[in-house]
Amino acid sequence: MIFVILAIQIFSRPMTVAEKLDHAIDFEESENQKMISQMIRDFCAKEIKPKMMDWDESQEFPVDLFRKLGSLGLMGVLVPEEYGGSGFGYHEYVTTIAEISRVDGSIGLSVAAHNSLCTGHILQFASEEQKLKYLPKLATAEWIGAWGLTEPNTGSDAGNMRTIAIKDGDHYVLNGAKNFITHGKSGQVAVVIARTGSVGDSRGMTAFIIEKGTPGFSAGRKENKLGMRASETTELIFTDCRIHKSQVIGGEGEGFVQALKVLDGGRISIAALSLGIAQGAFDAALRYSKERHQFNQPISAFQGISFKLADMATKIEAAKLLVYRSADLKNRGMSVNKESAMAKLYASEVAVEVANDAVQIFGGYGYIKDYPVEKFYRDAKLCTIGEGTSEIQKLVISRSILK
Ligand SMILES: Cc1cc2nc3c(=O)[nH]c(=O)nc-3n(C[C@H](O)[C@H](O)[C@H](O)COP(=O)(O)OP(=O)(O)OC[C@H]3O[C@@H](n4cnc5c(N)ncnc54)[C@H](O)[C@@H]3O)c2cc1C
Repeated sequence: MIFVILAIQIFSRPMTVAEKLDHAIDFEESENQKMISQMIRDFCAKEIKPKMMDWDESQEFPVDLFRKLGSLGLMGVLVPEEYGGSGFGYHEYVTTIAEISRVDGSIGLSVAAHNSLCTGHILQFASEEQKLKYLPKLATAEWIGAWGLTEPNTGSDAGNMRTIAIKDGDHYVLNGAKNFITHGKSGQVAVVIARTGSVGDSRGMTAFIIEKGTPGFSAGRKENKLGMRASETTELIFTDCRIHKSQVIGGEGEGFVQALKVLDGGRISIAALSLGIAQGAFDAALRYSKERHQFNQPISAFQGISFKLADMATKIEAAKLLVYRSADLKNRGMSVNKESAMAKLYASEVAVEVANDAVQIFGGYGYIKDYPVEKFYRDAKLCTIGEGTSEIQKLVISRSILK
């Protein structure tokens, strides 16, 4: 009763300034975020910018770079310190992915896949023993991680997967293939979801931790991609691959449900990746619009260009709000199913639109590789596809608002 009275007293009088501040939405970056942003800007200027077009051209996945990112704590951003990680929350994570992607989306994609898919799956669902074994290696990038859900015939419809794991004593025997797997070849460890029950049963799939070198487990073809070319994408092949039951994450049959939860967080990654690409393309276009003169004036003086810049900046700001809102909910342990889908849907479409506008602002120079925007344009498109296409995000959002 006393609590009811107190509550009524508090809510019936006007809020004090201190209480209002407590309830206010804070749009300021934290000191940690500012520190991470500056560290990444310095790192990118020295380690990424000078080499990224060579990596892009040759499709090189620069493993050493990821070790350096690991030594900065950026490959285990969300991993608690007791497992060798940085112990940060989602705000810092979003800042990390967006800042790297502002320079090179393909490095941003690999950092995101490593942090939120493979490492994220183990962090959320693995046993203490598995965490102690794998997280310290992953958080420092001593090992690169991969995550295998997609198959050649089942992408959006991942629950229909055909890779099977048949129980044989204390082992499971895996047969099948996964495709489009980030770090499928260079990763030392992969979390792989395979069928252990009947097709159509969402409880018929199980997640396994599989190490490189396990007999019957190999990487297949490396994809030749439109963009994100420094991020390695390959097939994974399983031929009578025997995995001990101690490598199962959680219990048998929990793999698909776990994967959907991992993807809820993963969508925040791709939304942050999109935000970074959009911001990078915008920065370049803004700069160029002031330098490039036509008809004796900078092109930014033409309303056709300045209004385009205004639209680009506004869309980026709106995307940022959605991304940080879902990061905030995730930090507070709340459901982000709808919110991360909205952030991913909107930010990825914005990345494509802004990169397209940036190329337009650069004119002919936007179409050649001496200027940065053609790469942003190519990299951006992945964001509307990976970790659930835009159409699948709309499915998730509509299911949530119609239930
Ligand atoms: C560079 C890259 C990296 C990737 N990394 C990984 C990884 O590390 N691990 C992993 O597991 N996967 C990875 N993927 C796979 C990625 O998640 C899938 O490509 C994606 O989920 C789409 O699946 P799909 O390519 O089979 O397309 P499909 O599912 O075949 O879709 C084709 C089209 O049909 C539409 N469509 C499908 N179903 C519906 C529906 N119900 N309603 C409306 N439209 C629909 C889609 O939106 C799309 O436009 C990666 C992909 C790429 C390109």
